[in-house]
Amino acid sequence: MIQNIAIIGAGISGLSAARNLVEGNNIILFDKSRGVGGRMSTRYSEAYEFDHGAQYFTAKDKRFKALLSSKISEDVIANCHQCGEPCDEHVNCDNEACHLLFIQCKSCQEKMNTCCSNACKEIAALPFEVQKELRKGKGNSNKIFKKGRSEVLTFKK
Ligand SMILES: Cc1cc2nc3c(=O)[nH]c(=O)nc-3n(C[C@H](O)[C@H](O)[C@H](O)COP(=O)(O)OP(=O)(O)OC[C@H]3O[C@@H](n4cnc5c(N)ncnc54)[C@H](O)[C@@H]3O)c2cc1C
Ligand SMILES: [Zn+2]
Ligand SMILES: [Zn+2]
Repeated sequence: MIQNIAIIGAGISGLSAARNLVEGNNIILFDKSRGVGGRMSTRYSEAYEFDHGAQYFTAKDKRFKALLSSKISEDVIANCHQCGEPCDEHVNCDNEACHLLFIQCKSCQEKMNTCCSNACKEIAALPFEVQKELRKGKGNSNKIFKKGRSEVLTFKK
């Protein structure tokens, strides 16, 4: 049965709810602001525009990762950061201490166990308790591995 559903707030929560419920239902989104996006929206002025909220997401939950990697069109404009093949699949490095978000093709995922480097692959293969021990006393474990301009990702621009 088609339901009429009102969602109040068009931030990422409201937009995600709308996206999940849109099939087979009538959705109406309300927001008190001028546009959508909430704390992720872009502010505009004559001289400039800027994203005033979230700059990036750290996706750890598998369901959130799946949502972020879903396609908005069939065009592929990116390359696997490890082998350079056309690819648009974002993954998070499987090493809990790294979690680098990068683009990795299926074949590299298999070869590297969804890791960004051999160092991460070796660590991710250790028992979880041993990995925890290695991270102990290192402050923010997410910062142990170099992010962004990681030189191990040959094809990352
Ligand atoms: C500066 C900044 C940097 C950030 N950086 C990051 C980051 O790097 N990584 C990260 O993961 N997160 C980041 N965040 C947090 C992230 O932006 C928020 O957690 C997320 O956007 C919240 O989404 P939401 O839909 O739950 O709420 P909101 O985005 O707050 O959406 C709520 C919406 O409801 C509307 N609303 C409220 N009351 C009413 C009403 N009575 N009637 C109608 N509409 C209403 C509001 O206008 C708004 O659009 C950042 C936040 C800020 C502010
Ligand atoms: Zn590849
Ligand atoms: Zn890594």
